Amino acid sequence: MTNAAASTEHDYGDRLARAGAAAAAAGLDAVVVGPSQDLVYLTGYQPLPLERLTALVVRGEGPAVMVVPELERPGALLAPGAQRIEVVGWLDGADPYHDVARIVGPAAHRVAVGEQLWASHLLRLERELADAEFETAGPLLGALRARKDAGEIDALARAGAAADAAFGRLVTDGLEGKTEREVAAALARHLLEAGHQTADFTIVASGPNGASPHHEPGDRRIVAGDVVVLDFGGKLDGYCSDMTRTVSIGEPSEEVVAVHGIVRDAQQRAFDAVTPGATGEEADRAARDVIDRAGFGDAFFHRTGHGIGLDVHEEPYLVAGNQRPLVAGNCFSIEPGIYLEGRFGVRIEDIVALTDQGARRLNEAPRDLLVLG
Ligand code: ZN
Ligand code: ZN
Repeated sequence: MTNAAASTEHDYGDRLARAGAAAAAAGLDAVVVGPSQDLVYLTGYQPLPLERLTALVVRGEGPAVMVVPELERPGALLAPGAQRIEVVGWLDGADPYHDVARIVGPAAHRVAVGEQLWASHLLRLERELADAEFETAGPLLGALRARKDAGEIDALARAGAAADAAFGRLVTDGLEGKTEREVAAALARHLLEAGHQTADFTIVASGPNGASPHHEPGDRRIVAGDVVVLDFGGKLDGYCSDMTRTVSIGEPSEEVVAVHGIVRDAQQRAFDAVTPGATGEEADRAARDVIDRAGFGDAFFHRTGHGIGLDVHEEPYLVAGNQRPLVAGNCFSIEPGIYLEGRFGVRIEDIVALTDQGARRLNEAPRDLLVLG
């Protein structure tokens, strides 16, 4: 198995410094992060989350310190960001929560914890730091991670290109006569052959199953006349792909052509709306307006998009209520859909990177309705 971050160089020292500065600016005594993509972002270290505590402590002053089980310490020291932090081992039978509390400082008033830190660990830490108030570090770390640098955008672009290639292979082979499960397995294979290290999800939703946005592929056989929603992705060099195309098996009905056209227009309108300074809510509205006006508002019942990076869903979200402005470096999906219960569904999804030069799609597979023979 290759290390998640091995083939892309990242500046962990800079990330840790920005996290420390953000913590200090927010008046936090410390940010405590357990095994998660937050930890990968800050150190490149990706241990399994376990009952034995692994926790990185980032403070405004002084180096970040990672408390790890002693038997994990050799592995932790190999992480690409390990030279930027102090790594402290603890032996079975010892109390690592006491160690973390000592590093945070017994007089701490406010401590933020990563959102994936297990409740079992958080509850023990709260007991050790009885005078501190605990809060989520989600917004602080989410804002840092949402602003991708050129290396990260490049990694996402390579993942996007590989997903495009996997889709190309799939439609060349054809879908008719295969079960959803068989098509899903082929998609996963194509993702890996195109360079992904993992294929994490492969939604194949044919005919009426397409009306369920997160349909689990089953034994339904794909036949002429079906509309098929294909939504898939995985990880390449630690960064995620996630794309959706909807194809028609044989000549589509006028209604399918019309609905697909509405979704494609909505997707384009949202793409046109994502500029630095626009809000996530405005981008969502741009897509939703097109679908509302066409009379399908009730059939588009999810947000327009989600940020993507080390996690497949992260900040920023293109959703009603998100009034934070988008900034250069943000990378997110744009994925409107129309779902007609008992009949069919259509969704089109690209990953988009916002740069100082404007928005850039990281998926280039054709967005027109593809008709497969
Ligand atoms: Zn998707
Ligand atoms: Zn998505």
